[in-house]
Amino acid sequence: MILDKEQLRKNLDEVIWKIEQARIAVSEHHIVQLVGVGKYTEIENIAALYELGQRAFGENQVQQLAQRMEALDDLPLQWHMIGSLQKNKINKLIDLRPFLLHSLDSIELAEELNKKLEAKAQTMSALLQINAAGEETKSGVATEVAYDVYQQIKESCPNINLKGVMTIGAHTEDTALIQKSFEETYAVYDRVQKEGATICSMGMSGDYELAIRCGSNLVRVGSALFKS
Ligand SMILES: *Cc1c(COP(=O)(O)O)cnc(C)c1O
Repeated sequence: MILDKEQLRKNLDEVIWKIEQARIAVSEHHIVQLVGVGKYTEIENIAALYELGQRAFGENQVQQLAQRMEALDDLPLQWHMIGSLQKNKINKLIDLRPFLLHSLDSIELAEELNKKLEAKAQTMSALLQINAAGEETKSGVATEVAYDVYQQIKESCPNINLKGVMTIGAHTEDTALIQKSFEETYAVYDRVQKEGATICSMGMSGDYELAIRCGSNLVRVGSALFKS
């Protein structure tokens, strides 16, 4: 559905206001980036949100990312790939040159990606995805091994610029459990931050304020921005 601009403005204002409240509660100096997730919405709504000032957008499928990057090619947008990356889509993603890949979820994927980046003499910025809630349906490395995996990727994949970590909060109504998954991810981030990492990507429409209070500095918000 194509939304009218006033609705989008209202949605965006509300999300920005809530981000502001949450980040100020952490620290005046805590800056949070908003990535608008367009996967369930029309491309027209993304263009309209751009006109309202939003610059960064994410998609969870390479195919959809490619279509939208191409269709909105004349706008200076920053594109994020946030969904699971299948091995047979790696070359396509490399050619798109996304701003950031959030979903590097195993050593094997990292090595494959690195090999293909090397072949194309390119680099890519990426985050290590952590499955902090330990859910079988989610990809990502276990919290316990995340720091070691991070180091290993840094050492063996010179064409990948690891910039930090990403997680999807626990899939539950239990706020305490969601908070725990964010806190555990932040603990990993806190260690790699001391070695130069700058991005802790946590928080979606249902839990971004909580994520920010747990230290997130990048939230990926879809439905709250594009609701009618
Ligand atoms: C869909 C998606 C989001 C946004 O979800 P909403 O609940 O609609 O805000 C964020 N991150 C990832 C990885 C997603 O797939």
